[in-house]
Amino acid sequence: MTARLLSGNTIRDQIYAELGQQIAELRSAGIRPGLAAVLVGEDPASEIYVRSKIAACEQLGLGNFHITPAANTTTAELLAIVHDLNARDDVDGILVQLPLPAQIDATKILEAVDPAKDVDGFHPVNIGKLVEGRPHLVACTPLGVMEILRRSNIPLEGANAVVIGRSNIVGKPMALLLIQANATVAVCHSKTRNLRKLTREADILVAAIGRPAFVKPDDVKPDATVIDVGINRVTDAQQAAEIFRNFPERLEKFRKNGSTIVGDVHPDVAQVACALTPVPGGVGPLTIAMLMSNTVRAARLRRGLRAPAASFA
Ligand code: NAP
Repeated sequence: MTARLLSGNTIRDQIYAELGQQIAELRSAGIRPGLAAVLVGEDPASEIYVRSKIAACEQLGLGNFHITPAANTTTAELLAIVHDLNARDDVDGILVQLPLPAQIDATKILEAVDPAKDVDGFHPVNIGKLVEGRPHLVACTPLGVMEILRRSNIPLEGANAVVIGRSNIVGKPMALLLIQANATVAVCHSKTRNLRKLTREADILVAAIGRPAFVKPDDVKPDATVIDVGINRVTDAQQAAEIFRNFPERLEKFRKNGSTIVGDVHPDVAQVACALTPVPGGVGPLTIAMLMSNTVRAARLRRGLRAPAASFA
């Protein structure tokens, strides 16, 4: 059996086409949704992430504002920037790129973002609304996973779902969204006993761990849908040879580049699962797509306009 590959790139393109229509409608009503990205300091990985978010805004015709305070910015100075963005009418979404430098109180900053503009879905008010089952703005990566599941017609109601990982940005909101969709959800983490026994019972298995190829073919039920959230850089040749033993092209690429990106799911799981998201090209493209979607959603809701049904509705 070879799993159906669930292409995040294809789903991202569908979402962009739908957003394009919504953005055009808003433009004709004189509204241009806008996203402000705040990047403190010069972390190279964060610079790449923010650049791709700004590029997505430009592709879709969203307003975008790139704010780059110096690495030695204080909590008070960053709070003043966030308050200014909260007050601006041309800003519908605010994202503060993480991680923040050590001298900044990240919790204080994230709590200062107006929940109506919290397009990352990290504010306690938005997390609380998700817990209550009336989501408003939800974290982008788990929201992207829901788009993949729904648009690929994976049945959720009554399904046994197992989420590995309990971070605030992926695992926990993922579990809450699956509960909202009437799945029966177990959340596993580093202290879980008999984790592999649980994963083998999952109809839907979401891996958000941060460990390359952690989920092996034996851990997966034969008709399961497996969602691989992990993004891990592998540089060890022996590890790459084991992971890609059945994928000579990927191994050849690794040998050329000296590194490669691997998910939390072993690629051989494709021989067991019914459906699987690839890495790269699975969940990754959806994260930025959902940031764009949240920005448009925030622009509508802030103005009292109805937002189209979301995948968590
Ligand atoms: P995180 O904050 O480090 O959380 C990892 C979770 O995995 C924790 O809950 C941890 O358990 C659990 N875990 C670690 N080792 C484990 C083990 N041996 N057995 C069972 N559970 C284990 O990571 P994250 O931010 O959620 O990200 C997870 C992965 O997703 C990373 O690879 C990250 O790069 C990727 N990611 C991708 C996207 C995307 O756009 N595709 C977005 C965000 C993150 P404890 O809580 O017990 O420590």
